[in-house]
Amino acid sequence: MPRLIRFFLLVLCTFPGTGIAAPASELDALLGHYRHLHQNPELSLQERNTSAYLAEQLGATGFEVTTGVGGHGLVAALRNGDGPVILFRADMDALPVEEQTGLPYRSTVRAVNTAGEDVPVMHACGHDIHMTVLLGIARQMAADRAGWHGTLLLIAQPAEEIGAGARAMLADGLYERFPVPDYNLAFHVTPELPAGRIAYASGYALANVDSVDITVYGTGGHGAFPQQTRDPIVIAARTVLALQTIVSRELSPLESAVVTVGSIHGGTKHNIIPDAVTLQLTVRSYSDETRDFLLRRIREISQGIARSAGMPEERLPRVTVKDEYTPAVYNDPDLLDRIVPILESMLGVAAVMAVDPVMAGEDFGRYGRTEEKVPGALLWLGAVNAEQYQAARQSGEALPGLHSARFTPDAGPAIGTGVRAMHAVLIELFATKP
Ligand SMILES: [Zn+2]
Ligand SMILES: [Zn+2]
Repeated sequence: MPRLIRFFLLVLCTFPGTGIAAPASELDALLGHYRHLHQNPELSLQERNTSAYLAEQLGATGFEVTTGVGGHGLVAALRNGDGPVILFRADMDALPVEEQTGLPYRSTVRAVNTAGEDVPVMHACGHDIHMTVLLGIARQMAADRAGWHGTLLLIAQPAEEIGAGARAMLADGLYERFPVPDYNLAFHVTPELPAGRIAYASGYALANVDSVDITVYGTGGHGAFPQQTRDPIVIAARTVLALQTIVSRELSPLESAVVTVGSIHGGTKHNIIPDAVTLQLTVRSYSDETRDFLLRRIREISQGIARSAGMPEERLPRVTVKDEYTPAVYNDPDLLDRIVPILESMLGVAAVMAVDPVMAGEDFGRYGRTEEKVPGALLWLGAVNAEQYQAARQSGEALPGLHSARFTPDAGPAIGTGVRAMHAVLIELFATKP
């Protein structure tokens, strides 16, 4: 179908004012799912009921549903003849946050975390919006099956917040048991933009995120006799300052990176020099080269400072890079060159904008880092109520961000925009051989 005719068909199918390519009742149905998901959040690795709920809905829509992929992960496939394979991913997990939005459908759920503690649970990162958009896309793409050819894979991923879910789904055969996608797509809501708008970063969009633990050893003793000790608090203090020079003195000023020491603990009392101090760092970068460099220099500097303080080789600091690493999200520029004009046609040029990358993390990047090198794009979906957004801009007051107990997305317009935009993108991408 010629591009222009397809575009007009899409416009004709769109009911004005609803923000969605379907009647208002369709958006009402999606909002019902949204409220259910919002009121029933589950922590990372505990998404059992969420996955079952999505499986039921997607099955009823005509998708072939496979559950239990990489834990509670779900893959829903709609095979619709020859054509491209496109994957759209939503994440399912919520956070240990006590909701303070005052919404009538707020979460009052509590759960036991992996440490055995009873914690409140809230969808404070908007994953409930992502899942609802996924359901909306499923319904739309199943309804206009005659208008496209190919295979649509909708995946609901567990454990995004701990950087484990994408890896688990890939390790459980996502690209072996199901067709390898030609493109991977996803949304993440943003508290920086009003609902109705979509933003994108071309190239690197989100960072490599590493958590690093350092245990600095010393030889403890009486605080009045420092000459008989090797004080790990002083060694740790020197280490913290020296680590700050990796980014400021050793990396090119044009390369972006973060080394933050977020936690430092050592000692019990004024007059006791302890045996050890522990540091917890978050280390962020975009390229693999910069990541490797940062991690290597953190180790070398920590150990070098301990050596200079007289610590023997067997008591040098222990530097551990935690397993929960999330690789950078790289948005394929060629894919974005195709997607952006479609978004602009649907939403208007002013509603679609290029933005800078951010140093936050997302494990969506993993889907593009296998040997298949599937190009992907994660788009920012505006989530703030438009009036609140304007008022906040005028007053300079900050709106609650992601992971805030008061994060309150404007669900209707955000979901409507997400479904409408992604539907248009999918129809267009399905129409051309990759
Ligand atoms: Zn999050
Ligand atoms: Zn998130």
